Amino acid sequence: MARNSKKKSLESQYRVLFYLGEGTFGTVKLALHLKTEALVAVKMVEISKKTLKVILVEREILATLNHPNIIRLFQVIVTPGCVNFILEYASGGNLFDLIQEHGPLQEEEAKHIFGQLVASVKYCHNLNIVHRDIKPQNVLLDEERNVKLTDFGLAIKCSPGRLLSRNCGTKRFWAPEILLGEPYDSRKTDVWSLGVLLFFITTGDYPFAGSTLIEFEQKLTTGSCRIPPYISVKLENLIHQILTVPPEKRPSIEDIEKHPWVMKCDI
Ligand code: ADP
Ligand code: MG
Repeated sequence: MARNSKKKSLESQYRVLFYLGEGTFGTVKLALHLKTEALVAVKMVEISKKTLKVILVEREILATLNHPNIIRLFQVIVTPGCVNFILEYASGGNLFDLIQEHGPLQEEEAKHIFGQLVASVKYCHNLNIVHRDIKPQNVLLDEERNVKLTDFGLAIKCSPGRLLSRNCGTKRFWAPEILLGEPYDSRKTDVWSLGVLLFFITTGDYPFAGSTLIEFEQKLTTGSCRIPPYISVKLENLIHQILTVPPEKRPSIEDIEKHPWVMKCDI
């Protein structure tokens, strides 16, 4: 037993190097795979009542995904009290930190990143998987600034037409129908989050800001966002289309892919 657990333990296979980041559930560290000398990211999630479902969902869904713009899961190692996801390492960090450090992206670069992100979300939706936590912190970049969507802890398998009711994710990225507590089409709420993200990466700001929570909620439910004048006409049109309040009038991920501002990304 001891031999077997040693064989499977984290330290016997990896040298954990340094801290990469932290989210709601996990701490992520860089590690070296001793056998191949490849760098990987280890997402360590403590097992608790609160995290168990997230762990099981992330494990199951990541294992089914295989797309160049989605982070790859190599292995799962369970150590006492902790689950370690061994993931592809994205050396460019996350989009939130990038914008915080360097300011908003030029439209040409945003097009490249957004096009790849749309491709990854379309791939998920076609597999009946919705992410439900699309935000810049969950979009990573590799050394060539290719997108790697990550953090599938709140994802769910959802057939077309099925409505969900549990709100989850981050309020700033919620669609109005989630805020209003209505049953929601999770494909359309993923699309809304993409719109908030697109606004953020091209302006460095959020589309529905307010000095109070009530003001923010009013703006969100009426879809009143002001787009800065330096944004091109095509991009302005795309953002307005995505941030359409009635979900039935909001574009699908396929519609977004066809928009003239979006750089189609063929795999
Ligand atoms: P949580 O589920 O707790 O939100 P995430 O999976 O979103 O955890 O990871 C938290 C942060 O850790 C990310 O925002 C990112 O900065 C960093 N990170 C996560 N995975 C990787 C990875 N594969 N490569 C590089 N950094 C990562
Ligand atoms: Mg996260």
